[in-house]
Amino acid sequence: MKVQVLEWNAVASWHWDLKVDDSGVADELCGICRVPFDGTCPSCKYPGTDCPLILGDGCTHNFHLHCILKWLEQDTSKGLCPMCRQVFVYKRIKNMGTSEELHNLQVLIEGHKAMRERENEENEFDSFEDDVRMTD
Ligand SMILES: [Zn+2]
Ligand SMILES: [Zn+2]
Ligand SMILES: [Zn+2]
Repeated sequence: MKVQVLEWNAVASWHWDLKVDDSGVADELCGICRVPFDGTCPSCKYPGTDCPLILGDGCTHNFHLHCILKWLEQDTSKGLCPMCRQVFVYKRIKNMGTSEELHNLQVLIEGHKAMRERENEENEFDSFEDDVRMTD
């Protein structure tokens, strides 16, 4: 006997509750892996609290926690949003949890911030040197 599957009606009913305050429409795709938030990032098998969503604050870009972690782990990211190149900060939302990964995210963001401040100081010093040479 030959069985033909005509239609597969396994529609996931699970959905992220994206409550975006006044700022308007939330992007429904992760800016890094381009997978909708109903799905998981490429490192996870199942959607849900194990793969939380990180909402950008200051910009409107949203990412899977795991995706933004991978991005910020690279020095070249400079702690900037991969979409708009603003300094990336995230909204602290209720029930966000206090996982080790969230802690890592905070550490990475602060690390980049410190690195940027150091760079700014060096740049100021460089321009000071240029000024001295110019008046020679
Ligand atoms: Zn992602
Ligand atoms: Zn994930
Ligand atoms: Zn952004």
